[in-house]
Amino acid sequence: MILRQLFDHETWTYTYLLGDEQSREAVIIDPVVEKMPLYVQLLKELDLKLKFGIDTHVHADHVTGLGALRETFGARSIHGAGSSASGIDQFVNDGEAIEFGGHALKAIATPGHTDDSFSFFLEADGKAMVFTGDTLLIRGSGRTDFQNGDAGVQYDSIHQKLLTLPDDTVVYPGHDYRGMNESRIAEERRFNPRLQVNNRAEYIELMANLKLANPKFMDVAVPANLSAGVTYTAEYQI
Ligand code: FE
Repeated sequence: MILRQLFDHETWTYTYLLGDEQSREAVIIDPVVEKMPLYVQLLKELDLKLKFGIDTHVHADHVTGLGALRETFGARSIHGAGSSASGIDQFVNDGEAIEFGGHALKAIATPGHTDDSFSFFLEADGKAMVFTGDTLLIRGSGRTDFQNGDAGVQYDSIHQKLLTLPDDTVVYPGHDYRGMNESRIAEERRFNPRLQVNNRAEYIELMANLKLANPKFMDVAVPANLSAGVTYTAEYQI
């Protein structure tokens, strides 16, 4: 399995390129439109055929590259069921597999950060990994104070869907603000401060008192992402 973790330093977003070594079929999770030149270059250099572009949710902090990837490579765009974005080719349900190159990327509904948040689980080369979007971050979790977020629902998603994955599952988050690249399920259970609460009510209380400022690109990103980023007119060279 080819796996590349790519970083957008403007929005602290991680994007993941997964590629099958034999068939060369690939998927990109959470692309950022401004990074299109990088994706185009990398896909070409690694001789990969992009089959799917996937967003873990409708993002509030960056404009998605899904529309641009579809235009450029014909890659089918995927959101989780519950997303109200237009310009999306396929809405996956909880438990559904996205198949590329003989691999099955399993969609796991993990609402809470937004009502359309999904995580994606993959086993390859004897390793389990989960792409958690903004549901579970390294030593943190995605905010739940807008975009139909719900802290209680997020608590349930994290505890019932993510922490039940094998302990050594590699956690690949949608962002990191402190320089961490990956974690493990067991490590997050033990060290993530948001998971040290005693119950659901305490988690809701904790999330209600974060007092976070809105993301700086939110006013641009949310409307653009509801159309898969295709109405966004930023210049990107490909
Ligand atoms: Fe988000």
